[in-house]
Amino acid sequence: MMNWDYLQPVKIHFGNGCHEQIGAIAKQCGYTKGFLVSDAFFMTNGLAKKIVETSDGVLVDVYGDISPNPEVDEVNRCAAKLRESGADFVVALGGGSALDCAKAASCMAVCGDPIEKYHGTGVPVPEAHLPIIAVPTTSGTGSEVTCVSVLSNHATGKKGPIVSNSFYPVMALIDPVLTYTTPKKVTASCGIDVLCHAVEGFWSKGHQPICDALALHASRLVFQYLEKAYENPEDAEAREKMSEASVIAGLAFTLPKTTASHACSFPLTNLFHIPHGEACGLTLDYFCRINRSERLDTFCKQLGFENADVMADEILALKKRIGLRTDLKEFNLTDKEKQDLAVASHHPNMLNNPVEITTEMLYEMYNKLS
Ligand code: NAD
Repeated sequence: MMNWDYLQPVKIHFGNGCHEQIGAIAKQCGYTKGFLVSDAFFMTNGLAKKIVETSDGVLVDVYGDISPNPEVDEVNRCAAKLRESGADFVVALGGGSALDCAKAASCMAVCGDPIEKYHGTGVPVPEAHLPIIAVPTTSGTGSEVTCVSVLSNHATGKKGPIVSNSFYPVMALIDPVLTYTTPKKVTASCGIDVLCHAVEGFWSKGHQPICDALALHASRLVFQYLEKAYENPEDAEAREKMSEASVIAGLAFTLPKTTASHACSFPLTNLFHIPHGEACGLTLDYFCRINRSERLDTFCKQLGFENADVMADEILALKKRIGLRTDLKEFNLTDKEKQDLAVASHHPNMLNNPVEITTEMLYEMYNKLS
């Protein structure tokens, strides 16, 4: 017996080339004065400027000082810019980093607090926020449909998600064309993040039937199209299918939440600067074996694998084929570092894992990976 709720408040528009209609779409929504928060790449290649210039006056300014794994300071600076501008809505253009920064800044712009008040403290984020139209440019995080903003705090050495209903964008505009320029390494790392969202959403303790169906669909697309998108960045079909997988995997995990692989990714990114998706993917095949169950075997069979162990083998092989790390050997970890890593991996998301993961199990895993 199981009882469950499903909520998905984000309007989704999926269209090749739809980023050219951002201004018109914002106008239709009744917004008049918008602020573009953009990934640094699009500040340099001119697209951010072009989007503002062709918005028919709806977008008035742009902020683009955002780095991968955005820092709390960047959110505070972005929030100050939004406040000064008097904007009534925000367009967030970029990978998960730009989207997450914009989501948090759009709340802090209204309440005036520093984001540190809410990051890692459990203090609920206030409801009032500027509405966001989210335009993802990587096929990875699904941030455009989630209520999550993942931030880092260099002062405390912590990276972790803040979850709040205030972080749901009003609309996700998904344009696969925007992903054509992602470098191969980013395609690979973000693509494996999609698989983590789908698989972790499926095996999470918080799983439920609608998200299960979404997880299966997204996983199938990743196994079919990630390598193609990696090999040929302008393969329109592969890019489109990875964009589809990304948003659907976002819907698959935002309610059930992620589990052990994401919990381990936070210290791996923080301490060793492994990109987010790659850090999540590093342990996915390992947890696939640990979390093996009849339910997971059935999921794997539906994807064409004999069981969870065979799917784990394919995840490992896929990571090798697309140039992702499969171990931590290059870091020459000392025994103490492995022990510390095992302790630091006990992020709250670990509690969503279907099998209890002890510090000893994590130490053994990091030992094998080193
Ligand atoms: P990213 O946003 O950090 O971008 C990675 C790199 O790719 C950056 O250098 C960026 O400038 C560049 N880039 C992005 N789009 C590009 C494009 N189209 N062409 C060329 N270059 C491009 O990467 P990401 O994996 O999308 O986001 C990672 C962040 O998102 C992490 O902080 C992670 O923790 C977080 N995350 C958030 C959620 C959520 O639900 N909010 C879920 C998973 C991960």
